[in-house]
Amino acid sequence: MKILKAEHLGMCFGVRDAIALAVTTAEHEPLTVLGELVHNETVLAELRARGVRIEQTPDAVATPTVMITAHGASERRIGESHRRGLNVLEATCPLVQVAHRSLAKLVREGFHPVIIGKRDHVEVRGMTEDLPDVDVVLTEADIAQLTARPRFGVIAQTTQPIEKVRHLVGLLRKQFPQAEARFIDTVCQPTKQRQHAAVELAKHSDVVVVIGGAHSNNTHELVRTCGQHCSRVHHIQTAADLREEWFQQEDAVGITAGTSTPDKIISEVERQLKEFGAPASGHGAFEPNHQQRAVPEAGAPMLAGRH
Ligand code: SF4
Repeated sequence: MKILKAEHLGMCFGVRDAIALAVTTAEHEPLTVLGELVHNETVLAELRARGVRIEQTPDAVATPTVMITAHGASERRIGESHRRGLNVLEATCPLVQVAHRSLAKLVREGFHPVIIGKRDHVEVRGMTEDLPDVDVVLTEADIAQLTARPRFGVIAQTTQPIEKVRHLVGLLRKQFPQAEARFIDTVCQPTKQRQHAAVELAKHSDVVVVIGGAHSNNTHELVRTCGQHCSRVHHIQTAADLREEWFQQEDAVGITAGTSTPDKIISEVERQLKEFGAPASGHGAFEPNHQQRAVPEAGAPMLAGRH
């Protein structure tokens, strides 16, 4: 069995920095995070074990300091926290901030805002909560139901697949040929890299293992993308979910992981796959030696603070 790792996989800098800030802060003072810091149960459990509390609304926060996650939050929600006298710590990813600013600019310039993304996703809610009139679309059917406007300003949730986003923007333009439709590409670079690397990986694998949280949007998108190029794709959260019967000795097994998956979980999955029968791990063209990353040993701490 040959193991291939995607050229880009796993935790992005936005999530990594947010976790590090939470860990470092919690070492000195009680901390509550507003919403899920990452969509990964293993990471959340470790944060809770370090005393970090997680609440969904500012009125449930019982610590003096509250942290906004990498997914960002609306001005309304941040203002609510300030009004309650809370010390607000912002870990909003700079690339989510770009999406917020792009949307605000489009609205200021008189475009009707359209967000390509999941209506109930925390990042999208952080953008829609401040707007009186906004459409959130995810499918062709959603585009078909849009009301005609003279000007549409379109952005995307940062973790949407860029091909799908471009396709939906094209459909919107076709449906409203008289309208001015301005699109600002806010899909983040780490998402694009992971999606592109997942396609290359899936094309060269007999079976692909996608590691990520059950509620992680970008992980689900990786599963969907890999499924377009490989008929055997398994979504797992940890190495414990792997089943030996999924693999044959002659298989090339591809590994990729969502942006909230810690390196330690990836290395545990790789180790388990090797135990399933690979005499030696091969490295495919998708992970040239100069781009290989050091993955921590199984006993290493999952989360690190800022130093
Ligand atoms: S997925 Fe992209 S936008 Fe979201 S935290 Fe990571 S780098 Fe930032």
